[in-house]
Amino acid sequence: MIKVLDKFIADKIAAGEVIERPVSIIKELVENSVDAGATSIIVEIRNGGKTYIRVTDNGCGIPSDEVETAFLRHATGKISTLDDLNSINTLGFRGEALASIAAVSRLSIVTRTADSSAGIKLSMHGGQIVNRDTVGCNIGTTLIIEDVFYNIPARRKFMGSDAREASAIIELVQKLAIYYSNIRFMMINNGQTILSTEGDGDYRKTIMSIYPGREFSNLIELDSEKVKGYISDPGTTKNNRKGQLFFVNGRIVESKVIEKGLAQGYGDRIFSGYPVAILFIEAEPQNLDVNIHPGKKEIKFLYEDEIVFQIAAAVRDAMYTPASIPAATPKKTFSTVTSAPAKATTVQKTEPEHKPVNKPLNNTEHKPEQIGIREFLKSKSPDPEPVTKQEVKAAPAKAETLHEDITETDKPYVREEIQLNSYIHKPFDFQELRTVGYVFSSYIITQARDNLYVLDQHAAHERIFYEKLVTKYNSRDRKSQPILTPIMLETSQDVYNGDREWIDQLRYMGYSIEDFGAGSFIIREIPEYMSLSEADSFVRAFAEGLDNENHLNTIVVDKLIMRSCKSAVKANDHLSIAEIDQLLKQLAECKNPFSCPHGRPTFIKVSRYEIERAFKRK
Ligand code: ADP
Ligand code: MG
Repeated sequence: MIKVLDKFIADKIAAGEVIERPVSIIKELVENSVDAGATSIIVEIRNGGKTYIRVTDNGCGIPSDEVETAFLRHATGKISTLDDLNSINTLGFRGEALASIAAVSRLSIVTRTADSSAGIKLSMHGGQIVNRDTVGCNIGTTLIIEDVFYNIPARRKFMGSDAREASAIIELVQKLAIYYSNIRFMMINNGQTILSTEGDGDYRKTIMSIYPGREFSNLIELDSEKVKGYISDPGTTKNNRKGQLFFVNGRIVESKVIEKGLAQGYGDRIFSGYPVAILFIEAEPQNLDVNIHPGKKEIKFLYEDEIVFQIAAAVRDAMYTPASIPAATPKKTFSTVTSAPAKATTVQKTEPEHKPVNKPLNNTEHKPEQIGIREFLKSKSPDPEPVTKQEVKAAPAKAETLHEDITETDKPYVREEIQLNSYIHKPFDFQELRTVGYVFSSYIITQARDNLYVLDQHAAHERIFYEKLVTKYNSRDRKSQPILTPIMLETSQDVYNGDREWIDQLRYMGYSIEDFGAGSFIIREIPEYMSLSEADSFVRAFAEGLDNENHLNTIVVDKLIMRSCKSAVKANDHLSIAEIDQLLKQLAECKNPFSCPHGRPTFIKVSRYEIERAFKRK
């Protein structure tokens, strides 16, 4: 017998489509509050939203004679033409939410508009009105949803644990609170306030109040025409993508295309993990696939390459500006001395012949310049002689724009060398630098002319160690030193059973490494130029980097060197005066003493003018 489904059942079926989990309810309700012009939104949940959800706003409210209408399917005050429908569709279906939510829960709404003295409270069970009252309340709307899917047991089973549902909701509210930084958000989970923003429109402040982690504290602003937002410097990453929030035309999305754009923008400056990126992307609605389900977050762009390009360009632009190195204070009173936190390194194939680079050094370009020593010397000498390796070594450390292009033809495993890039702008000469103090067992206060420079000893140490390792890695110098207690290296089964080219690479560097069975290797000798802890952290980073490919290219090795630098440098080592002098001397010999290998500054600058201004003398 064929029956027409009654409204109750039809609603329940349709509701199952739109409302998948408590988090879908929150999304719809908060969007409605935003549409209602709210400046304050409170979200409260209990048991992951399964037993209780409350969303309270101070928006326009619903007139008492329209409350019931709002719960009719396809009831919406937001569409008038078909054109509207097409563009709005990219943000989800319209006029479905309240009807769908009401159909699968026990719901009550309390709402009042500015021009009525009392509010209306309407209660429903499974979409059927059970009560209607006039009540006293504030202007705005409160929706309370209890016992989601109480009447659809099959759906109830598909919900995750309380904790899992709660975390999905919290993550969503965090994102919404950032996007709508001009709205004050508050979230209460099982009676505890876990999020509260000021709603003053300050993105940076909102982001930091929601994510207090250090990864979010010095974000670089992106401000291109189509891509706006905030990203971390390449040295500041998280080991998951939770710091990556993408909004396309105001909709929270996930997108491999956007991820690709980010990856291209950062290039090989990321040595591990995922940068923080909160991106607001504008796209023409007609260039988005409109046929995607509103519940799905994955978005489809019609012109993917264009989006990738726009994002990569925006990221690159932001990174090569001085602003990409954070100022010492939020007020920007201090500035850092690296004018160009340019790419830490590039990789160049070592070939017998190098093409001459005749372009003069251009300080205004946000790109590292690379000039081979031959070309450099050529430009000084009218009658160039071939440059030998001895001459390269003899080149003074002060010739900052040089890059050693040592040609090696007999390297069996390492066919590429890592280029150390120099800085473009030199803020001072190291000879001018006087040490005037040392604070917090971390910072060396120095002075050059009318400026104070604060040196971060850890960043300096990383830079020195990094350049030492890279230079040694590039050279043919591969002496080993025996160690008393061997290093045991555990590897995953795929690495152990895979191609072992990487072992040759390590041997080439000076490690003696042998198979020790059951996935492990034993190391009895380490490169002579490394300390035990440096050698240990490098080889472990090296093995970790082997997860997928057992061949490590130079870019990866470079990243590993950077990573091992980080772990080799200990925090809060109090330096003696002699050690401070030694550190400065070694730093002066570096090719780029002005930033650590991860792109962070080694020095920050405070000018006399800034000090005088701070004392209100200027
Ligand atoms: P839509 O948002 O697509 O219009 P909904 O079912 O979500 O459909 O809401 C139906 C209507 O109810 C809205 O168009 C709006 O007029 C009204 N409404 C819903 N929530 C609120 C709210 N928080 N404040 C004011 N009006 C609301
Ligand atoms: Mg809605």
